[in-house]
Amino acid sequence: MKAAVYYGAHDVRIEERPIPSRGDGEVLLRVLRSGMCGTDATEWRSGPHLFAVGETPHPVSGHTGPLIFGHEFIGKVVEAGPGSTFAVGDRVASGAGVWCGECPRCLEGRTNLCWSYRTLGLNVDGGMAEFVAAPEKMFAPIPDGLSLDAAGLSQPLAVGLHAARRSGVADGDRVVLIGAGAIGTFVLAGILSMADAEVTVVDFAGPRLDRAARLGAKRIIPTSDSVVADVLEAVHPRGADLVIEASGAPGQLANAIRMVRSGGTILQVGLPARPPEVDIHSLVIREITLRTTNAHVFAQDLAPALQLLAHSTLVEELLDSVHPLDDIPGQLDLLAAGQIEGKVLIDPSLSA
Ligand SMILES: [Zn+2]
Ligand SMILES: [Zn+2]
Repeated sequence: MKAAVYYGAHDVRIEERPIPSRGDGEVLLRVLRSGMCGTDATEWRSGPHLFAVGETPHPVSGHTGPLIFGHEFIGKVVEAGPGSTFAVGDRVASGAGVWCGECPRCLEGRTNLCWSYRTLGLNVDGGMAEFVAAPEKMFAPIPDGLSLDAAGLSQPLAVGLHAARRSGVADGDRVVLIGAGAIGTFVLAGILSMADAEVTVVDFAGPRLDRAARLGAKRIIPTSDSVVADVLEAVHPRGADLVIEASGAPGQLANAIRMVRSGGTILQVGLPARPPEVDIHSLVIREITLRTTNAHVFAQDLAPALQLLAHSTLVEELLDSVHPLDDIPGQLDLLAAGQIEGKVLIDPSLSA
């Protein structure tokens, strides 16, 4: 089969690999769509960071050597074991993360914090390939009538839904969301699906903010030197109930601290490239709660993400383009350069 294999920064090769064999409790999928993500672009630009690539075996997965990346994939079952919940031909969406089901974090339902959590496409071979084999418990059926392009957005939307739940957003909240790229857009959709909240979105002026407005943001504010004052004036002079930092850009956590009200909550979604300087003094004096979010919880987030995609315009708003495997290096270049505003999907059945 053809697969996109990551060797290091600016080095992804489209190679011929054996079709993976299916283990116990696993299904073999023909990949139908595989999404590229900001994480992949970061690994392309300056990795490996999260990708388990190199001589030292990954502590959980044991993976060494180059890696088939791709952690946002859907496919069609071509082989299932006896007693499987899936039949050959079923269309399924992947949560990407595999959990043990037995450790303390799994038992309390936080499977994304499993002691032996591993993610296909990050810590072990993933879905930028024609086929992938993986445990069947990490797949959810794609609802009839949902397009492949829409279903191809279900994993990152599950991450957005998880972020919204982690934020604790409630009806009537004044919310500020910093960052309207792909991740911010999925978080916006999650927040609006979960609460009757008034959301103000901050980003550079342009198509991302316009998209946020069409998707239901109450107001959009272009970033500038006076962005904190602009937000306080528009939202509330004492600050927002909840500020979500989804840009990971330098200085934005500091801005979030200045935008939130006393007793309010900040949710950090983006991964800053460098450790940010945090004004702990201001957090303590005003009893600000600082929360974080990572990945998603399969049982809570993936099926709802598929349902939400069936009833929203997210795919029309967010899908940039669909490409064959051979286009991956070029698309990673564009993504890493910030030249793609939405999501790029790979369809391995297309030829270059
Ligand atoms: Zn991702
Ligand atoms: Zn576990």
